[in-house]
Amino acid sequence: MKILVSACLLGIACKYSGGDNLCPALVDALQRGGHEIVPVCPEVYGGLPTPRPPAERCESRVVTCEGTDVTEQYRKGAGIALTLARLTGCDGAILKANSPSCGHGTIYDGTFGHRLVPGSGMAAELLARNGIPICNENNYTALLEE
Ligand code: SF4
Repeated sequence: MKILVSACLLGIACKYSGGDNLCPALVDALQRGGHEIVPVCPEVYGGLPTPRPPAERCESRVVTCEGTDVTEQYRKGAGIALTLARLTGCDGAILKANSPSCGHGTIYDGTFGHRLVPGSGMAAELLARNGIPICNENNYTALLEE
């Protein structure tokens, strides 16, 4: 399979804090299964620096903890992620849970109070709307077994 994967889950230091979200079990499963990987970081592709202030979705907008509206950068990064997935023919995506870009199904509520609510990040939402199956670092097993 060819799979779009959040770059931070692969150990790339593109997280807002300057670190990563390396998931060794996922990397191992991708290698063992011989899957082709297309790394993507929608926030960086949207033009945001690393490190950067954390941001959360507030309905249709994305706003940093400092109050800066970064919706356009998130939209641009989402569009690039979709283009990459289409150009490379990805069969699915494994995206970082709860992120305002990559989260699918649950995201933080926009108050920076660590409360999760139903919803998806900008990139995950666009990918899903275009028919790309999405899972995260906690539930990817079924996708890799397809
Ligand atoms: Fe990871 Fe996605 Fe955030 Fe980039 S945008 S750091 S890939 S969760």
